[in-house]
Amino acid sequence: MTLTVLNPATEEPIAELEQAGVEEADAAVSRAKEAYPAWRAVAPADRARLLRRLAVLVEEHGEELAGIESRNVGKPISGARGEVGMVSQVFHFYAGAIDKHYGDTIPVAGGVAATFREPLGVVGLIVPWNFPLNIASWKLGPALACGNTVVLKPAELTPLSATRLADLVLEAGIPEGVVNVLVGKGSVVGQRLVEHPDVAKIGFTGSTEVGRLVMQGAAGTIKRVTLELGGKSANVVFSDADLEKAAASAPYAVFDNAGQDCCARSRILVERSAYDRFLGLLVEATKGVKVGDPADESTEMGPLISAAHREQVASFVEDDPLYRGDVPAGAGFWYPCTLVEATNDDRIAREEVFGPVAAVIPFEDEADAIRIANDTPYGLSGSIWTRDGARALRVSRALETGVLSINANTSVRVQTPFGGFKQSGFGRELGMQALDGYSEVKSVFVATEG
Ligand code: NDP
Repeated sequence: MTLTVLNPATEEPIAELEQAGVEEADAAVSRAKEAYPAWRAVAPADRARLLRRLAVLVEEHGEELAGIESRNVGKPISGARGEVGMVSQVFHFYAGAIDKHYGDTIPVAGGVAATFREPLGVVGLIVPWNFPLNIASWKLGPALACGNTVVLKPAELTPLSATRLADLVLEAGIPEGVVNVLVGKGSVVGQRLVEHPDVAKIGFTGSTEVGRLVMQGAAGTIKRVTLELGGKSANVVFSDADLEKAAASAPYAVFDNAGQDCCARSRILVERSAYDRFLGLLVEATKGVKVGDPADESTEMGPLISAAHREQVASFVEDDPLYRGDVPAGAGFWYPCTLVEATNDDRIAREEVFGPVAAVIPFEDEADAIRIANDTPYGLSGSIWTRDGARALRVSRALETGVLSINANTSVRVQTPFGGFKQSGFGRELGMQALDGYSEVKSVFVATEG
């Protein structure tokens, strides 16, 4: 069956691809299985050299890849360039990490035990449409570094950067069969990967709902899973913070990628004593977000991914929000920057909107802020704004979330672990920790006494 890929800013088709079915999924797993023994036997320094070449090729094709991502996802081109830059950094990082992922030697009675890090085999990587190439690289980098072979399934809506990356993988000299890209429906080929007996692990990023299905499907073969799921993160603003700075950054913490960001700080919690002043500053800052043509260098926010998703986002917003911005006229799945005053019990504060909509919620004091921030099934990200260093640390320890930034609106770095608490998932991507998710620890005892 043919898949038509759209540009969400124009609603025009930009590509047609053949969709894989179960048979093609099985064939991709077979190719990965065949390539595995030779790839795991490649010396770590040689694997590093190949990954480094891939990193350089991504850099060299940066403008092309950013263009693909911008057209297929509707991302502003400046942001797409930054994301492709991170993809290259990820491959450089794991190229450098391969030969530093040591085991231990452990003194035990009668001899010595040593631990080895072994690859898992064939791993299935299932990624969403919001950061297609970026999230794929977070999984590919550590998976390949550890000596696994992979089947990568991009989201149906955004397969174009993954298929182009597959060409660059071969150009880098990574052998045929090590990376296999499978374009098809999640409910068909994704599910097949999850249940396939020859797939040792699923690295999944997507909704909590599908994450549940992945866990269930993986149970049949006791597959390893890493789940990076949804979020409903809090941006906690204390009255002693630099309010101007916090308000200037808050819109970008929600409206970046048109709010289609699992890390979106979509609940803005503001201490009551600073509430009115902060609200004024926040509305002014939100008015400044430049929405429009993703190809324009100065654009800060593009459209949503699809008409269906826009309808879902709109269902969260009632007639009279605190603020609603403007969108371009004509074609495109546009949705305006929107601010809503809410309580933490409202639907808008409990469910992931995944669009440019922020709920603003007052709190009374530090204990109340912690209570509200943690009153969610999710636990992915968040920010704390205060000039009190002790409070910043106290609150950051108390928040049930995997990733936090203090006096800043982002916390994702190639070198640091990323992942969720609670229903935002488990396992960590990025940093040295991601290598643990793509390897098994083997313990070997060596007798030294006769
Ligand atoms: P989905 O969960 O719908 O899809 C994610 C991926 O899973 C897609 O490739 C999809 O394929 C595939 N899939 C769908 N059904 C199945 C199935 N039954 N078995 C196996 N795979 C399946 O998420 P979205 O693509 O809609 O992405 C948005 C969600 O992702 C948001 O909830 C967001 O919070 C979350 N997300 C989390 C991140 C994190 O790191 N925590 C980062 C980015 C997003 P297809 O689309 O082709 O059908």
